Amino acid sequence: MDLNYSPEETAFRDEVRTWLDGNLPHELRDKVLDYRELSRDDLLRWHRLLAGKGWVAADWPVEWGGTGWTVVQRYIFEEECGYAGTPPLVPFGLRMCAPVLFRFGTDAQKQRFLPPIYKGEVLWCQGYSEPGAGSDLAALKTRAVRDNGHYVVSGQKIWTTLAHYADWIFCLVRTDAGGGKRQEGISFLLIDMTSPGITVRPITLLDGGLEVNEVFFDDVRVPAENLVHEEGKGWTVAKYLLGYERMGTGRVGQSKRELMRLKELAARQLKDGRPLLDDPRFRDRLTRVEVELMALEVTNLRFLDQLRRGGRPPGAEVSLLKIKGTEIQQAITELMMQTAGPFAQAFRSLDTAADFDAFTATLAPRYCNLRKATIYAGSNEIQRNIIAKLTLGL
Ligand SMILES: Cc1cc2nc3c(=O)[nH]c(=O)nc-3n(C[C@H](O)[C@H](O)[C@H](O)COP(=O)(O)OP(=O)(O)OC[C@H]3O[C@@H](n4cnc5c(N)ncnc54)[C@H](O)[C@@H]3O)c2cc1C
Repeated sequence: MDLNYSPEETAFRDEVRTWLDGNLPHELRDKVLDYRELSRDDLLRWHRLLAGKGWVAADWPVEWGGTGWTVVQRYIFEEECGYAGTPPLVPFGLRMCAPVLFRFGTDAQKQRFLPPIYKGEVLWCQGYSEPGAGSDLAALKTRAVRDNGHYVVSGQKIWTTLAHYADWIFCLVRTDAGGGKRQEGISFLLIDMTSPGITVRPITLLDGGLEVNEVFFDDVRVPAENLVHEEGKGWTVAKYLLGYERMGTGRVGQSKRELMRLKELAARQLKDGRPLLDDPRFRDRLTRVEVELMALEVTNLRFLDQLRRGGRPPGAEVSLLKIKGTEIQQAITELMMQTAGPFAQAFRSLDTAADFDAFTATLAPRYCNLRKATIYAGSNEIQRNIIAKLTLGL
């Protein structure tokens, strides 16, 4: 097994690093590093910059604008972006709807929906979860009834990330409420968010931020041509898409960057007249997280090596990366809070005390916000169930 980058891969890493250094707008980077909310314009601006460079759609087929990168190059790119502090690429169009269309869409659907996604002209959101249907997704109740070339959709989605910015939503809906298996009778629909009958209501998160919403459908008419795959076969599409959703949750580059900031903070903060970084108990906790992060990175590289040699694609391992990656992200925010102590203000304040700075002021909201990481994209408990089932055969 070879966990080192080849000379070509190292050269690629340097190319990406140099390009990011020269092209990532400072104001976007500052917003990311200060944990400030990114607007729709911010998100699309970064998307379009990458599209202009031809680097926005690494996983797409080359004929549709994909980069043709190897899995290792893709990994390097993600890590360098995390390290540099780039805004996220909103995944719902690029990395969720698009792979579904490549696999299940008609030619007309591909021609219509893929180019605007690539160019960053539209934003998408994901309408899976409902009140009472999260982990148990097959319990979903939003109905779609066929009527004269349309589906008439009624019901409610919840926790819909960025629905307040989105132009389109892809939704799981129930087209057949008959008595069969619950996974049957579900369909996958593409819905224009400007359709009459749609209401988006924001949910304020623990940190005071706005990123998720409730979306209500009140007799919304959706052209039948917006059905993806066959009617009643939406579960197959949903399962295919969930694998893609969990691939990007390890975030090693981002955690490395945050760990570095944690060390800087701990070197500044004094305890009994000495930097906290020199405190043996603090160092012990810090080192544990650092070792876990190194183990996550090596595990990631191990899977990549497997893929590089043409081995089977990762299965339950993706769940492992999600669990460890999100736990590490949370552990780092906990240590940051501990380090800043009273300066980790409960929420942003106008306090201008001498040793209070803009960074420590963001720690409490950041800590609160990251509680979400072990819930979204399938909670970590559910990921553990998947590992138990697929790996241990339980
Ligand atoms: C910030 C954020 C953004 C989100 N964005 C989106 C989005 O854009 N689109 C979308 O469709 N959804 C989104 N979600 C919803 C997310 O997918 C669900 O919250 C998640 O699947 C859990 O479902 P639930 O909230 O209904 O909790 P429940 O399913 O009610 O679970 C409650 C608790 O019970 C545990 N649990 C449930 N079943 C089991 C079991 N069988 N074994 C062990 N433990 C179990 C869970 O782990 C959890 O701790 C988002 C969620 C968050 C927090």
